[in-house]
This record gives sequence, C-alpha cells and structure tokens, in this order.
Amino acid sequence: MTRRPGSAMLHLRAPLVVLDPERVARDAAVAFRDGRVIAAGPARAVARRVGVPARDAGDVVLAPGLANAHAHLELSALRGRLQPTRDLAGWIRAQIELLRGWSRDDFVRSYRLGVRLALAAGTTAVGDVCRRRFLVREAMRNPFRTVHHLEVIEPDASTNAVAAAIDELSRAIAAAERRGRPARMRLGLAPHAPYTVSGALYRILCRRQSPGPVQTHLAESRAERRLLRDGGGPLAALLRKTGRPLPFAEPPGVSPVAWLDRIGALRPPLVAVHANFLARSDVERLARRRVPVVFCPRSHAFFRHPPHPAKALLRAGVAVALGTDSLASNDALDVRAEMREAVARHGLSPRDAWRMATVHGAAALGLARGGGRLRPGAPADAIALSRPGGTGDRDLLERLMDPGVRIERIWVAGSCITLPGGRS
Ligand SMILES: [Zn+2]
Repeated sequence: MTRRPGSAMLHLRAPLVVLDPERVARDAAVAFRDGRVIAAGPARAVARRVGVPARDAGDVVLAPGLANAHAHLELSALRGRLQPTRDLAGWIRAQIELLRGWSRDDFVRSYRLGVRLALAAGTTAVGDVCRRRFLVREAMRNPFRTVHHLEVIEPDASTNAVAAAIDELSRAIAAAERRGRPARMRLGLAPHAPYTVSGALYRILCRRQSPGPVQTHLAESRAERRLLRDGGGPLAALLRKTGRPLPFAEPPGVSPVAWLDRIGALRPPLVAVHANFLARSDVERLARRRVPVVFCPRSHAFFRHPPHPAKALLRAGVAVALGTDSLASNDALDVRAEMREAVARHGLSPRDAWRMATVHGAAALGLARGGGRLRPGAPADAIALSRPGGTGDRDLLERLMDPGVRIERIWVAGSCITLPGGRS
C-alpha cells in the first residue's frame, strides 16, 4: 500500500461527481491540493478556478470517501467463526474462548486482514476500537484515516481500579505520541460498555480532556437494559461466571442512555455505538446532548434485533453514522453493504444511507469541518466507483450501492492509495 505525495495539485474530471448526498454534478471535476478539496463542481467552473488542465479519471463516478465509524480491526480473523445468535452473553463467552490461544502475531495478522478488507471496500476513515495496546504501531501505518480508540474494560469497580485504568491509558497515549503519530491517525478512548465500566470511570473518561472522540457500546441489547434496570438477566449471570463484579453497587434503575446522562457523561466527545434499544426519551436525550450514534446494520442483523430507531434519531437531528462492527458479528468490512442493509430493513432512503456513510461518519470521527463532502476546504478523501448501469440522477445514489459497482480508486488527504490487489 503505497502513498503518493498529496501536496501537488490533482485535478480530476469524471462524467459524474457526487459532491454530497444532496448534489450530483454531471461532466464535473474535483481538484485537491495540500490534502484539501480546493474546487468541485461542473468541469468548466473548476477548470477556470484551478487554471491547470484536468486529468481524465475515466468512466467512473467520483464520490466522497466512506467512513466506517465503528470497527474492531483486531478481531478480523474471527470472520465466519461465530454463528448469528440472539444471545449476546453467549456470543461474548464464545469469543473469549476463541481468542484465548491467540498470540501477538495472530492479532497483528488479524488486524492487517481487517485493514485490507476495509480498504478494498472504499473506506477512507475508520473509527477503530482496539484493546491490544501493541497494535497502535499497526494503526500508525494504516493508509486510511484512523481514530484509534483505546478500549477500556475496568478491572473491577474499586477506586484503585479506576486510578489504574486511567494511569494505564495515560501511558498508552504518551507512548503512541512518542512514536510519532502521523496526521491521518488520531487517538480516542473507548470505555467498553455500561456492563464493564463503572460510572466513576465513565465520568472521568468522558469529561477529562480526551485526545479524540470517545466511543462506547450503548443500549446494544435487551440484556444491557435489564442489567441497568434491576441488576439481573443474562449479563449479570455472565459477569458472575467470569468472576467480574457488577459495575455498580445499586442498579441505576434507568435506561443506559439516561444513566450516562445522569452521571454527566452523555455529551461530546462521546459517541454512542449501536443504540439499538431506545425509548422515545432516549432519542430526545441523544439529540439534546448532541451525541452522535453509530448504527451497525449487519451486526444488528447478526443478533436479530428488532428494527433500529435510526429514522427517529435522524428525524430528531442526531448524526447517525454507519459502522461494520467486528468480523465476529459480520462477514464484511464494507460500508456499502451496511448502507444496503440500512435501506432494505430499516426504512432509510439511499440518500440517508449516503449521508450516514459520509457526512455523519465524518462528524462521529471528529474529522475537520466539511468532512464527508467534496467541497472547497473539505479533507480530500474520495473514491472512484465504476459507473453503474441505468440512467437518472434520482436513483444514482441507490445504484452506487450495488455490489456489482466496484471501488476503482481511493484518495486520502489527496494521496492516491494502492488498493489490495494492485489497483490504484
Ligand atoms: Zn463494537
């Protein structure tokens, strides 16, 4: 995976350019310089603006790059090893079993597999959640933008454990910074979930100065709601079996979203991953607190959850991004496959799906303003897709989601990235 310098002007012309989910330009062009879009729109206007001849990008559609806002690249080699199930606690147990014998090298190989798959699917930014600290070295080499969220599971709910967790994280962050983090990679934090992290630790991680976004799995399952409501159910049983204490002395008696709000953690830079089981008041709370949500449609299907409240969240003004989650609950790291699933099963339009995969993805990952669009000032992250059959702009966004449409090229910060298999 080689990079070409992005400081020189790159002026590309194509028959169709998706400028953003609302606007498609015909016979259009886009120009990049110094990692930013400097012009995009009708070819003649862009040519006048940039003053250098355009390079013909071929018979392709140019579009903003795709953001996979929630993944666990380190678990990619689990693809096909776990069967779809309604039983989250059982799935966690089976996953722990499978990972027991993995060496460092196994995790490195697994991570690299994930990088190749995500790249081949046209991903230009990933919100990755990673528990193995040595993988930060891999993340620094990623060709796409990466928010590398250091995942935290609290050893136990004591004050000492909170201090130990904070200390460990501070050391991991300092070590990553010392190694010379490239600009396309940022660090973030990921307190795992309300059943493994106490309120005290959440409060500190969400309220202190985080190096980047903070992701947490939230309201993922009925079992999680039950645990917070009355301290019972299958997750309580799993915690007992694995010798872990409950992360609270008394069950809070409210929904996971209401609980995080009560302890002051429900606010940016927090990003809520999943949010599968929400009451109307939870939707309103997430909107009021301006907390983005990452919906993982194919992982959602793996666990056979009922339809996701994505549409209600979007209507309430929440930035809902898309994620693949890990290959322990999915068989692809392909954002367009997530878009198809969101449209087919959750009542979303192709335009909604594109907005989620680009504009909202950029928001959830804390990318610069204008991220996820091809317009002046935005990060120069783009893809070229093979031109689909059919005509008409109205359904172009839908046809671009078709699995027969190939990802031909990728640019990250204006640099062309070689795709796995040698295409560039
Ligand atoms: Zn996850």
